[in-house]
Amino acid sequence: MLKKSKIPINLNLNVRGLKQSATLAINEKCNQLASEGKEVFHFGFGQSPFPIPLPVVESLRHHAHEKNYLAVKGLFELRESIADYWDRRQGLKYTAEDIMVSPGSKELLFLLQLVYYGDLVIPTPSWVSYSPQALIIGRRVNWVKTHRENDWRLTPDELESLCMKDPSRPRIVIFNYPSNPTGSTYRVEQLKRIAAIARRYNIILLSDEIYGELHHTGRHISVARYYPEGTIISSGLSKWCGAGGWRLGMFTFPPDLRWLLDALSVVASETYTSTSAPIQFASITAFQENDVINYQLKQSRRILRAVGTYVHTQLTEMGIHTPIPKGGFYLFPDFSDYKQELSQYGIHNSDQLCSKILSDTGVALLPSYDFGRPTEELTARLSYVDFDGADALKIAHSEYHNKSLDQQFIDQCCPRMVEGVRRIQQWLSAKKLEHVR
Ligand code: PMP
Ligand code: GLU
Repeated sequence: MLKKSKIPINLNLNVRGLKQSATLAINEKCNQLASEGKEVFHFGFGQSPFPIPLPVVESLRHHAHEKNYLAVKGLFELRESIADYWDRRQGLKYTAEDIMVSPGSKELLFLLQLVYYGDLVIPTPSWVSYSPQALIIGRRVNWVKTHRENDWRLTPDELESLCMKDPSRPRIVIFNYPSNPTGSTYRVEQLKRIAAIARRYNIILLSDEIYGELHHTGRHISVARYYPEGTIISSGLSKWCGAGGWRLGMFTFPPDLRWLLDALSVVASETYTSTSAPIQFASITAFQENDVINYQLKQSRRILRAVGTYVHTQLTEMGIHTPIPKGGFYLFPDFSDYKQELSQYGIHNSDQLCSKILSDTGVALLPSYDFGRPTEELTARLSYVDFDGADALKIAHSEYHNKSLDQQFIDQCCPRMVEGVRRIQQWLSAKKLEHVR
């Protein structure tokens, strides 16, 4: 038997001290609390509330018998259907050879950082896993400043001032929009300017567009249109198709970066081998033109827009700033107007803020610290997904076909969102009153 030691001396230095990913940890914590009978509002983890569209589920049923290992880069027919999908959706011309499929895009993000020798550049805030992946591999992370007034967007000027310091340094910039955690996105002009800087400094632009299909009005535009030669598009089925647990992600490379795709696939061949066969066969259906899928997607966007707008309005009324939600299912509330009141309760940072809100109200949020914000900043991520997406879709289709999704719809379909937000409101006003006293 191995001797137990308190100090894990044989752990790789890069892994020592790392915790489980914040998103997965909050999910497990909430499920644990719920199993103990506690009431929990699941605004922490970011998982689609909607079911996988029926034609895609049926396709999986049909392919359950597929038992063989598939090609490392992915099933050719699936890669073809993804190439066709980019043409239909974004007018981008790719072939199956430009695409690599994986068990979740997270895995490819890791492989890319492993294989490409260069710094990681990410705006703060950014999704929780980019930076830990770089640290595990031993890459340098450059966080780029953003500002609340600009909805925490990466600006071309900030990006350029970083690149100018060492213009020929190899870099991967991860550019994620609609954004996790802010819910904001970029206009065409902004995309063009980012693309111009990326071109000037030969940047590998990893455009994480996993929430692209969940742009609330269906108007997502890929930056690959403006920097085709250096953009890798990252996407998958986890968000728009509601299939996070299926683990199906993909990268789409420009032909000039085929060498990078090949290098990723070498490492994949020595690690995960290939992506689940039945899932890949079923995913072909997800990427094909299909009226049922399109309709569900349209309704999902409509619902997310209504729920996001509702929560945004409530927070704004409380004096909590958060960018107007434009896509995906996240908000990034800033509690700093309550700084004084909160500090009286020993709340001085985002971690303490979220722990206290969870223990006092049952509402789970994620501290902005996990997204790379300064420790003492009182911001957090709120996922507005605690509702039954299947029910919401049914009701939006039947009762709200020809009218907008109003307050009655929110009350009827998203009572847990309403109650969770009410509890935050109540918690904050109690803090305010006690402070005045
Ligand atoms: N990027 C972002 C911004 C995410 O929120 C996630 C979480 N699903 C991923 C990438 C990874 O997604 P997956 O591995 O499920 O494709
Ligand atoms: N992307 C989801 C989130 O941000 C969770 C899945 C994950 O982190 O892998 O909450």
